[in-house]
Amino acid sequence: MSIAENLSELHSQIPDGVQLVAVSKFHPVQRLMEAYNAGQRIFGENRAQELVQKAPLMPQDVQWHFIGKLQTNKVRMIMPHVAMIQSIDSIKLLQLVDKEAARINRKVNVLIQLHVAQETTKSGFTVQEVLEAAEARQLQGYENITICGVMGMATFTSDQEQVAHEFALIKETFNTLKSKHMADNPHFTQVSMGMSDDWPLAVQQGSTIVRIGTHIFGPREY
Ligand SMILES: *Cc1c(COP(=O)(O)O)cnc(C)c1O
Repeated sequence: MSIAENLSELHSQIPDGVQLVAVSKFHPVQRLMEAYNAGQRIFGENRAQELVQKAPLMPQDVQWHFIGKLQTNKVRMIMPHVAMIQSIDSIKLLQLVDKEAARINRKVNVLIQLHVAQETTKSGFTVQEVLEAAEARQLQGYENITICGVMGMATFTSDQEQVAHEFALIKETFNTLKSKHMADNPHFTQVSMGMSDDWPLAVQQGSTIVRIGTHIFGPREY
């Protein structure tokens, strides 16, 4: 199937109100343009270098989401390009993103990445860490960033029950943060979870943003 067909099939299945991020990492701009011409505007990249190379080659109205491990020395280079950074995994990074956004006089949307999966290679705050940070008011008072919600990944496993349980934990943590700590932030509304293989489960558990690569663009060539 073509990229356009993959997108239209996904749109027929994903409920209204759930945003689709087309994860375009490792795919050439020509393939991204196929998605763009089919109406896709939100693209996700997980490497800073790749994002800054692709951004100027794509139309201006593309919204780039950064979804990978963000090293502090790469924040400045992506800042002019990103609409949202989904992968904030420390308070130090949150503070730096705020500072770099201020430096170029812009505002940027961010999500707090939660670590609920079993793999230690996935980064993010544990549930306890994020609640402690919120308690210490470390998720408050930033002028140039808007904290729009949370992002998370499930363990890579065929155990559907475990995946559903991890998504439920992400949603529950979002709910706790929203009601206890972010009540004065009307933008705290997003739960980004679900990829090609597990997005239906994620949507069932309350996802508002799915990040899908393979089911749109086919397998990646690393
Ligand atoms: C690569 C990636 C995706 C997309 O994965 P697919 O299985 O290709 O849909 C989603 N989220 C993150 C954080 C990724 O790195």
